[in-house]
Amino acid sequence: MPWETIKKLPGSLRLRPNLFDYERSCADFCWEETGRELAWLPEGKGLNIAHEAVDRHAQTLIAERVAIRWIGVAGAIRDFTYNDLRGLSNRFANVLSRLGADKGDRVFVLTGRIPELYITALGALKNTSVFCPLYSAFGPEPVYQRLKRGDGRVLVTTEAHYRQKIAPLAKQLPELRHVLLVDIEEHLGESLLSFPKMMSEAGDEFSIPSTSPEDMAVLHFTSGTTGMPKGAMHVHQAVFTHYMTGKNVLDFHPGDVFWCTADPGWVTGTSYGIISPLLHGITTIVDEADFDAVRWCRILEKEKVNIWYTAPTAIRRLMRLSRWPCLQFDLSHLRLIHSVGEPLNPEAVLWGEEALGLPIHDNWWQTETGGIMIANFPCMDIRPGSMGRPLPGIEAAVVRRSKEDSIEVLEEPDVPGELALRPGWPSMFRGYLHEEERYRKCFAGGWYLTGDLVRRDADGYFWFVGRADDIIKTAGHMVGPFEVESTLMEHPAVGEAGVIGKPDAVAGELVKAFVALKPGFEPKEELRLELMAFARKRLGSAVAPREIEFQTDLPKNKAGKIMRRLLKARELGLPQGDLSTLEPD
Ligand code: ATP
Ligand code: MG
Repeated sequence: MPWETIKKLPGSLRLRPNLFDYERSCADFCWEETGRELAWLPEGKGLNIAHEAVDRHAQTLIAERVAIRWIGVAGAIRDFTYNDLRGLSNRFANVLSRLGADKGDRVFVLTGRIPELYITALGALKNTSVFCPLYSAFGPEPVYQRLKRGDGRVLVTTEAHYRQKIAPLAKQLPELRHVLLVDIEEHLGESLLSFPKMMSEAGDEFSIPSTSPEDMAVLHFTSGTTGMPKGAMHVHQAVFTHYMTGKNVLDFHPGDVFWCTADPGWVTGTSYGIISPLLHGITTIVDEADFDAVRWCRILEKEKVNIWYTAPTAIRRLMRLSRWPCLQFDLSHLRLIHSVGEPLNPEAVLWGEEALGLPIHDNWWQTETGGIMIANFPCMDIRPGSMGRPLPGIEAAVVRRSKEDSIEVLEEPDVPGELALRPGWPSMFRGYLHEEERYRKCFAGGWYLTGDLVRRDADGYFWFVGRADDIIKTAGHMVGPFEVESTLMEHPAVGEAGVIGKPDAVAGELVKAFVALKPGFEPKEELRLELMAFARKRLGSAVAPREIEFQTDLPKNKAGKIMRRLLKARELGLPQGDLSTLEPD
């Protein structure tokens, strides 16, 4: 078939997906088989994520393939082959062992998306220390809290971050023995060291010590959308999930160029911004800069990105622009677009088709699950607004928990309940660090309870209803904010919506919506009434918002998620709770 004809095919048809028969893959699946696709350490020394991601490729023909293409803020490009990554991560593992950092010791990073971040991650894993990324836009308090609660032993950062955020509190962090600064040439003291100097003095050969699949590998703090962030502990065996989902959901094929826009400060940016693409020996793009619509489209075009993994917040930002820059770029190399982190409004899926030429595949998971659990697979028809179906090897159910912590599985389709997963998948978190009780409370009746409310349709697709904390009980109805928000977004004036329940003497709670308008629309009374009528027509009067308030922007956390708990606290004049992850307006 000539290329011109192939090009006209929807991107997803250009290659046969790795997983092309969902039912059969589920029936035949066993995790042992995934284990057999991994290399494992030589001489029976166990399983190490960095060995799987880097070293095993450095021994093959793809050693000189670009593993990471780094794009600096000003446009500079640096390529790191698998061989380069092997040498650099070996060096950093040697640095850690010279500093006496041991198995299980926490190695934190507080930098932007610079090469040293990726080298630290891989080197720490090789040394069997624990990689713990911090989002660089955190202020001193959230940084201190996480270092303290995570028992940070080594920190890699920049001089500016150190002076602003660490130095004032360093005395209260006695566990923090060494700080390595990436942008100084000479050591400043015994514990304040130059990263480049240490690296240049270290050898580039390193023998990974025995690593048990159950050794702790990554400590990730949750996004803090619903409250104080929790430190979820992950082990080396999580690599099974990273590999399997890279293959079956993200659909990595040899030669692919992949771009995950998430910062490694969030779990997506580590599981899929570092580990998963490297496991598959493909090229992954790292952009140092933050969201910029034109820049992003240019990267997609110039780097010929095949698979793009992003988040609803970015998609909504693109949608809100009055002129879509994507239309001016050649995005024909894109084969698949995925989204995670928040519910993806049906409107956004359809927008993808119009503006990017491809629908957007939503998938669901959490910091706690370590990897994708529910997805719209490339081989399946997307149901806009649905998160898709569970991964092979993942048993998901809709349940109701009673006060005595007994669990009722809701078999009937379309009945909302809490999403529960059967424990035992390899990347399941092994605990919240120092919060045993909070961890224990996540399990009941043989299930892990996710805290998200969903419904499952008759064909097994899961639909997000809302976070358990965000559900609105109005006049005897349970209303999920997502449904109301998605309906509002169908109106041409609405860029973003956040919906809460507001206490009401008659209804118990009434539905209140906060709406940010697209450019060119004025927050006028007329429009407010029009939106109320629009929602009522589609949702019915029981579910439609009784109040709509315009806001220039909705409060979001640094992971880009709308913080409904904050909308509610502000509305009710209540304490705002932990704001460590709040993105400033
Ligand atoms: P915290 O647990 O600290 O409140 P968080 O839950 O936002 O923060 P993450 O682990 O980063 O922290 O996010 C996981 C949550 O994000 C899920 O539990 C779910 O509520 C939401 N989420 C992720 N993907 C999707 C999706 N595709 N559709 C709907 N919600 C999603
Ligand atoms: Mg959570």
